[in-house]
Amino acid sequence: MKFVLTMLCFCVTLEPLQGAENNTQLTAAMMTVPERTDYERTSSLAEVSAVLTALQQNTSLMHREILLITEDGKEVPLLVLAKPAISSPAQAQASGKPIIYIQGNIHGGEVEGKEATLIIMRDILFGDKQHLLDNQILLFVPVYNADGNDKLSLGSRPSQELSPAMAGERFAHGYDLNRDGMAIDTAETAALYRNIMQRWDPDLLVDLHTTNGTWHGYSLTYAPSYHTAGDPATSAYTADVMLPAIARSVKQKFNLDFGWYGSFDYRDWPPTEFRTYHHAPRYLTNTMGLRNRMAILSETFAHDRFSKRVHAANAFVEEILEYTHQHGQEIRRINREADRRVTSRAAEEGGSYQQGVQFEMVPRNERIDLLSYKYLPYTADNGEKAFARSSEIVVIEGVLNLNQLAATRLATVPKAYVFPAEFSQVAEKLAEHGIGVASLATGTIFEGEVFQVTAITKQNFEQNHHRNSILRGQYRSGSKEFRAGDYYVALDNRLANLIFYLMEAESDDGLAYWNFFDAYLAPQLANAAVVAFPVFKVLR
Ligand SMILES: [Zn+2]
Repeated sequence: MKFVLTMLCFCVTLEPLQGAENNTQLTAAMMTVPERTDYERTSSLAEVSAVLTALQQNTSLMHREILLITEDGKEVPLLVLAKPAISSPAQAQASGKPIIYIQGNIHGGEVEGKEATLIIMRDILFGDKQHLLDNQILLFVPVYNADGNDKLSLGSRPSQELSPAMAGERFAHGYDLNRDGMAIDTAETAALYRNIMQRWDPDLLVDLHTTNGTWHGYSLTYAPSYHTAGDPATSAYTADVMLPAIARSVKQKFNLDFGWYGSFDYRDWPPTEFRTYHHAPRYLTNTMGLRNRMAILSETFAHDRFSKRVHAANAFVEEILEYTHQHGQEIRRINREADRRVTSRAAEEGGSYQQGVQFEMVPRNERIDLLSYKYLPYTADNGEKAFARSSEIVVIEGVLNLNQLAATRLATVPKAYVFPAEFSQVAEKLAEHGIGVASLATGTIFEGEVFQVTAITKQNFEQNHHRNSILRGQYRSGSKEFRAGDYYVALDNRLANLIFYLMEAESDDGLAYWNFFDAYLAPQLANAAVVAFPVFKVLR
């Protein structure tokens, strides 16, 4: 027995932990700020950049680009990890490998993904995870919202427990970047679409957040891209196949409980319904569904201690990448098949089928067993009902899971949209999304339908400096003549569902909703009962 033990010890000492590439030893400069400060601080952009430089000095497998220079003049780094190394999208496409894009810190106070991505890059380049580059190309943006990240202050995450005390602010110069997926009001979103979506065309986006919501019992919660008017295959695969498999392996390897993102009404305990967040493509993960690509929303749990939050984000991304390492070609195939299906349906059946423009949350067939801390009611000093959190996590069985969306209003998908040359801002916005916009060479008469606007209802809240518009009215069939120079947007391409969601008059997240037509419609509606929406739908 003693002999065996001695042999075991001998074997262990023969295998020191060394870097996979060139036996590179880890250095202090490769450590993140939380690792160096007992998790008391989070990194500034400059500190992130310094870690990236330390990694890059010891590897040839990392290519660095600038995603954008922000309003505050900060350079946001985009890292491309590949083996063999690449430096261009053409090389990535030629490799045939799927491209996985991971971004942290879109909300400047939600810092866990930023730190976790640095640790994962280090583990891949110099630790025991280099096999994650065998079958895929990885894009990382650790700090998506650099301006928000660097506005460090006390109390910016009031409901977040334990360190770091100082965190950045949610917004980027007044804009919530995760509500900007359609309007593209910010330089960050414009750069994402130009320099990542159009340049690299990733198969999967992973967007790393930290929730400040309910005291559920999960270390991390997730959601797929809600497809709404998109092709359902990419979302269904993410929700029904990929995420459950990843949650199982996280439980097995790390003993962490991960579950669906959402919230419940704790005032009537125990909760009977669990609801997800929103379907609208202004959320970047949801935009991906309209582009026939997959996406995962990740939310670490604000009430876990900071080191555990970073660990949960790290474990999640690592297991996502283990999954895509194994199943990347399947993901690529599903995405490309969706491209073909969307293109051919719009080309062949445009004008004769309908899709949703407004949606409601509906339950899935299967109920879930929800992990949660118990909410213990008490009367606060001011006499109001307040809640304390129990120390134990309980299982609430058979909770209704409102985690999918159903259309409440439909519209016909046309063959094309046509609109007058004066709406050049609309044409520019479509181009920013990567949508092809043509100009008519000669005057042309089109057959189809036009939405007759009878009223504009304004939302009673503001988001991203907009008071959003909901158009009321009905469609009328007919023909309309357009002139040379007017804009023509065909739907016979893979972005047909995105075009539809942007251009439909009644879309709950389209350009009309984001006020692009208010200046045209509102003055006319002051003097007339009905005004034709300027975008004509070509049905024949
Ligand atoms: Zn967030």
